[in-house]
Amino acid sequence: MKIPEVISRTIKKTHNIVLFTHVHPDGDALGSLLGFADILDGLGKNVFCYLEEPIPYLYDFLPGASRVSTSLAELEEFTTSCEDIIGISLDCGDCDRLGKNNQALLQITPFFVIDHHRSHKNFGSNRWVDPDRSSTGEMVYELAQKLDAEISRDCAFNLYVAISTDSGSFQYDSTSSTTMRIAADLIDRGVDPDDVSGKIHNNYTIERLRLMEMVLGTLALFDESRIALIRVTQEMFERSNALPEDVEGFIDFPRSIHSVKVAAFIKEGKNGRVSVSLRAKGDCDVAEIAKSFGGGGHRNASGFRFSDKSSDEVQRLIISAVSSVLKG
Ligand code: 5GP
Ligand code: MN
Repeated sequence: MKIPEVISRTIKKTHNIVLFTHVHPDGDALGSLLGFADILDGLGKNVFCYLEEPIPYLYDFLPGASRVSTSLAELEEFTTSCEDIIGISLDCGDCDRLGKNNQALLQITPFFVIDHHRSHKNFGSNRWVDPDRSSTGEMVYELAQKLDAEISRDCAFNLYVAISTDSGSFQYDSTSSTTMRIAADLIDRGVDPDDVSGKIHNNYTIERLRLMEMVLGTLALFDESRIALIRVTQEMFERSNALPEDVEGFIDFPRSIHSVKVAAFIKEGKNGRVSVSLRAKGDCDVAEIAKSFGGGGHRNASGFRFSDKSSDEVQRLIISAVSSVLKG
């Protein structure tokens, strides 16, 4: 899908722009947000970046990370002091994922949505949603071209992080020749792939590794070893002293087992919340499974959450839903 004309035209003529992304942000969410903020700075815009929660330590190396505000009061001050303003949401497949104040944020009009989730649920006034893209970072790059904007070295760095993390380091099905061409251009603009991958993959604490040991200890296989399951409990966080964001990437280990078609990671949160990550290999569409539980995502990577079920119940639901899809 091409960029809707109304989105590029309105961005060109509007001075004040607020950018949003999804809660529990990943590399694509933050890289797209900060990369696009830098592009808009270059066009002389007045830009405000809002996120409900502080940036996870794993991503505090991103250029411009400190410009993201978590203050609703600051956001309100910005929006009320500006007459012409637009809101833009990046990488967010569902308005609930803008955070608990999503309805207040959506009061900004117009509100544009740029996203690549297959399970995207429409919100905002105008949308550019393309599930065939590897990442929102790829879409932001294209938008910069359309806006005749400069891509600075910092912007290139952020977009490279967005694209390389969401494409699984250029391994997932969503990696196209366009993805590679964009990545090549970002390298030509000064990004050092070795530097980026070091900052992403060699940036962990010992606490994370202690937690990883505990989580991998829970590994269990079901349905003739086609389903792999791991779990994390609050007690493991306390024992390891690790942070919630430290679980990022753990699901790649059960997924890597040769017989496994679907891997699931059950995360027991605070206040009885249980969230689940699903990853698939091959044809199984885990976005559909997540949608059936009220969540969403991509064909090969999705998630959902419950606040009224025990993790054992959630485990039974996952095994039953995934088994029936694998049989089908
Ligand atoms: P992760 O497992 O890394 O948290 O999420 C994998 C993918 O599923 C991401 O693209 C994320 O946006 C999506 N996802 C995870 N949890 C939810 C959820 O509760 N609702 C929706 N709509 N998408 C989710
Ligand atoms: Mn993304």
